[in-house]
Amino acid sequence: MVEPLQGLTNRAIIYSAPGESLETAVVSLPVQQPAEGEVLVKLYYSGVCHTDVSFCMNALPGLQVPTPKGQIGGHEGVGTVIAHGPGVTSPPIGSHVGIKYVADACLTCDNCIEGAEASCLNLKISGYLTPGTFQQYCIATARYVTPIPDNLDLAAAAPLMCGGVTVYTALRKAGLRPGDWVAIFGAGGGLGHLGIQYAKAMGGRVIALDVGSKKDFCFSQAADEFIDVTQFDVDEDVAAKIKLLSNGGVRTSLQCTSSSKAYTQAFSSLCFRGTLVCIGVPQNPLSFAPNLSAMVGQELRIISAKTGNRVDVKECLSLAARGFIKCHYQIRKMNELTNVFKDMQAGLIEGRVILDLEGV
Ligand SMILES: [Zn+2]
Ligand SMILES: [Zn+2]
Repeated sequence: MVEPLQGLTNRAIIYSAPGESLETAVVSLPVQQPAEGEVLVKLYYSGVCHTDVSFCMNALPGLQVPTPKGQIGGHEGVGTVIAHGPGVTSPPIGSHVGIKYVADACLTCDNCIEGAEASCLNLKISGYLTPGTFQQYCIATARYVTPIPDNLDLAAAAPLMCGGVTVYTALRKAGLRPGDWVAIFGAGGGLGHLGIQYAKAMGGRVIALDVGSKKDFCFSQAADEFIDVTQFDVDEDVAAKIKLLSNGGVRTSLQCTSSSKAYTQAFSSLCFRGTLVCIGVPQNPLSFAPNLSAMVGQELRIISAKTGNRVDVKECLSLAARGFIKCHYQIRKMNELTNVFKDMQAGLIEGRVILDLEGV
């Protein structure tokens, strides 16, 4: 039996009616003692990811059970270790750590041995069945939290726990080389704007694609070119514009949206041996049919990036700590999460929303 910690109250955001509405509520809960192998983390900030919206609406394909009522969401948290469970010595008390989408991986199954911790056969996901980072105190597996470099702003570090590491891993898996053109679909969003920055930090040249209102924002993130996707009725015209700007097609297309139309555009804009990286999942996952003739003829690749492993997170944080990555964010309060979800669904957010977990 785990004892609650006396004298502390944990304010947490729960999903009131998962699958039915975006309604959330801030509640007070006891703070639990960490058990063996665990640490207690006092969280300061949590990023809000589109996957949180999906968990709240039970809209993520392939989940075994629906998100339960009362689930504490969130998977981009940063804070300080304030207590060790029995047997734990690291990370030290007082150190800054991050909590990721993968709350815990066994590190011994075949997928983990491949380095695919996000596909661990014994995976635990923060904010789905495991209480996530939309709370002030979070129990976490000691060997799976991420040390945060000292010189990194804690709020800006939060979105790197999922959004940052996902786009970094996508670019790394695509084999981005200096000078390569990269097309980023959904470039003005949480993932997309970090994608622009990581692609540039890795030596790429970026064509940002989004709605026209995000043009200035994408250029402020150092995009080389911008395409307003609303100005085109025909998918082939978007691809033709990308090929014109990149002198024949992009080496990598990062698909950060959930639009099947954008998938067709992203695939059609590749150059010889180009790679489409699937990140966003369309409502109808069968809606994208690649041209297999082009795929074989041009030796194209389609790969995916779910999120990264511990090495990927370390590398993505290292680039940020050296000043190459600056997440664009707005701070919101815990009781604003429902409205944040609605704004995200409407595509109104530039960059990332970060919840200040101390200001309820
Ligand atoms: Zn996420
Ligand atoms: Zn595993």
